[in-house]
Amino acid sequence: NGSEKPGCSSRILVFVRLRPMAKKEKEAGSRCCVKIVNRRDVYLTEFASENDYLRLKRLRGRHFTFDASFPDSTTQQEVYTTTTAELVEAVLQGRNGSVFCYGATGAGKTYTMLGTMENPGVMVLAIKDLFTKIRQRSCDGSHVVHLSYLEVYNETVRDLLSPGRPLVLREDKQGIVAAGLTQYRAYSTDEVMALLQRGNQNRTTEPTRANETSSRSHAILQVVVEYKVKNASLDVINKVGKLSLIDLAGSERALATDQRTLRSLEGANINRSLLALSSCINALVEGKKHIPYRNSKLTQLLKDSLGGVCNTVMIANISPSNLSFGETQNTLHWADRAKEI
Ligand code: ADP
Ligand code: MG
Repeated sequence: NGSEKPGCSSRILVFVRLRPMAKKEKEAGSRCCVKIVNRRDVYLTEFASENDYLRLKRLRGRHFTFDASFPDSTTQQEVYTTTTAELVEAVLQGRNGSVFCYGATGAGKTYTMLGTMENPGVMVLAIKDLFTKIRQRSCDGSHVVHLSYLEVYNETVRDLLSPGRPLVLREDKQGIVAAGLTQYRAYSTDEVMALLQRGNQNRTTEPTRANETSSRSHAILQVVVEYKVKNASLDVINKVGKLSLIDLAGSERALATDQRTLRSLEGANINRSLLALSSCINALVEGKKHIPYRNSKLTQLLKDSLGGVCNTVMIANISPSNLSFGETQNTLHWADRAKEI
């Protein structure tokens, strides 16, 4: 790709993270159907006793290899360091990047992105690292960090830091902006975890299960770093880097067909955002001139953080249980395709 600047790669890095078997899955008598070897190879097997990985390697659709694959013992810090630390460095050099968690509901997307108070995830570790790096490189307070946290649900954009009416997307000089979106000025990591936890609680829930986040909700954290540098003629110029961290809606919905009325509309819209994301990524890597960002709210919001010299990272989350075999296989196939492009 001739438009690439030296040192900037537009390749997509694809990672897979396996979560531990849940208590519920154990109680349901489920067996483990995923094995990760050498931090790269993922084997999918219907039988827990399957040990013949050489044979599996020859079976199409049962052996995958990624930039890295994380077994269920992998810590949040390891996931952050391997997948996202370089993007934080790039943001401090005025570049944009994005990290997506993809996978079925219950596969560990929110755990990976947000995590818990005891085990904070990529969002919190990225902000922590960002502040550490800013402290290391300047003591004049010239870096300003703003956070915004929003949801795309049913093609409606909402502010998770200040819930209220849906936000309207507008195009201005800076690109697509959500009018009135809270720009939270962050000074330290300590405040951020609580802020994001609260924001996460503002995500849309299913009417039938009031405490569970809807599997159709996408959450996007955008971290914007602004700083000033002097150019060769000692003029002060403003630089801006943006990191987008996205907890995508459950990918099982993208495959659902035959849904009716409201459910059908919602399903179709989730389809729309996930499909639009896939087609944008495809178009970008194929070097197409026209990238169909306009097809969904999600891709409009991420227009300046996908493609070009931006860094894009995908983390595919999977469950070890054979009860989720089909979803795991779909997720791995999708991740495998993303890797090709
Ligand atoms: P998703 O957001 O994809 O629907 P969650 O992140 O909510 O899934 O994960 C489902 C459950 O599994 C949660 O209770 C979560 O705490 C747990 N979980 C997910 N990944 C891990 C992990 N790597 N280690 C420990 N628990 C995990
Ligand atoms: Mg979730």
